[in-house]
Amino acid sequence: MFDKSIEAYEDAKKVIPGGVDSPVRAFKSVGGTPPFIQKGEGAFLIDIDGNKYLDFVQSWGPLIFGHCDSDIENAVIETVKKGLSFGAPTLLETQLANEIVEMYDNIDKVRFVSSGTEAVMSAIRLARGVTGKNDIIKFEGNYHGHSDSLLVQAGSGMATFGAPSSPGVPADLTKHTLLCEYNNIENLKKCFEDSSDIACIIVEPIAGNMGLVPGDIEFLKQCRELCTKNGALLIFDEVMSGFRASLTGAHGVVDIKADIITFGKVIGAGMPVGAFASSKEIMGNLSPEGAVYQAGTLSGNPVAMAAGLVSLQKLKANPSIYDELNKKALKLVNGLKDVATANNIGLQVDTRGSMFGFFFADKQPKNFKEVSEFCNFERFAKFHHEMIKKGFYFACSQYEAGFICAAITEEMIDECLAAANEVMKSL
Ligand SMILES: *Cc1c(COP(=O)(O)O)cnc(C)c1O
Repeated sequence: MFDKSIEAYEDAKKVIPGGVDSPVRAFKSVGGTPPFIQKGEGAFLIDIDGNKYLDFVQSWGPLIFGHCDSDIENAVIETVKKGLSFGAPTLLETQLANEIVEMYDNIDKVRFVSSGTEAVMSAIRLARGVTGKNDIIKFEGNYHGHSDSLLVQAGSGMATFGAPSSPGVPADLTKHTLLCEYNNIENLKKCFEDSSDIACIIVEPIAGNMGLVPGDIEFLKQCRELCTKNGALLIFDEVMSGFRASLTGAHGVVDIKADIITFGKVIGAGMPVGAFASSKEIMGNLSPEGAVYQAGTLSGNPVAMAAGLVSLQKLKANPSIYDELNKKALKLVNGLKDVATANNIGLQVDTRGSMFGFFFADKQPKNFKEVSEFCNFERFAKFHHEMIKKGFYFACSQYEAGFICAAITEEMIDECLAAANEVMKSL
């Protein structure tokens, strides 16, 4: 019953590297053929073979209202009719910027781009431009997009200086990236001892790219304090957690103020949007006001802005949505833990707002190394495979977080737990 997807995958592989436009979609870590999607419907995905799945991926985060939300759909259609792009300012950009600025007392201005990668890359350039320093601190297992200086892994020589994690990235470009262990304060302090040239810390305050691993409050406080003390800027990468973990992202959860915040995913509601935001003093350094260059032909695209605007307005009009989504997330992960326990399987679970995570592990991992060491990846792959067959679409890697959308009901979660119970018996 995956015949059409199997054929489509073979066809795609002939003309697209690996058959996909972003590697995680290829199901490499769990094996099997990725279903090719025909359409979405609320909480569900329907593939080209006609299989229907309850979708816990939601395009990797952007779709907090699920697929084909009618308000967002209508706003997009009305905007499309007026033209797709102008390369000139529109009112929509100011409106969306205002929606964001109103929610944060540490944000005065926002610059829109077209992806999370671009947002982070630009935020780092801004931090370097403002501080006049070169080094950046990044944490192992945090993902900030695919720009050169952020594709680093632990180097073999000096403990903290990163080595390229991909061919094509010159070591000269990663030598300014200091790699630290997440949730490790001592390691972080050592970075500031190793270098007096640190422009910024870039961190996912609620890490969602090594599975869900929230930053400890004390660790995040130290990030803040060490930046302030050393004249560096703190960048919260909230491309995933922004408008997901709470209405004000991780900020709303941990109450620690970053100097620059990056956004993506939910602010575009499924359209390609990213943004970075800060105080008027810091943003004043950005061209054309200041000298730090940053630009984009399709930045602030009206169709994308319209989608984001309606999405944020809907979230603001109904702030209790985060409690409702979290209740469902807890029902899901606690239910999974119960069925796992009943089958003598260790499962670690956590949630933040509409984000959830589960690890097939006996202990809760706190950093990337622990995720790799503690988790049973084989068991995850089997679980994933069997759940897909039963119509439940989870992220295809233990290193990814899951998402609850507003269209998912308690009954749907009950059905998922019943299926998981069957599957866990065979693990
Ligand atoms: C997804 C993500 C990015 C990259 O965003 P793209 O739109 O895929 O370029 C950056 N940072 C975090 C935290 C993300 O989750």
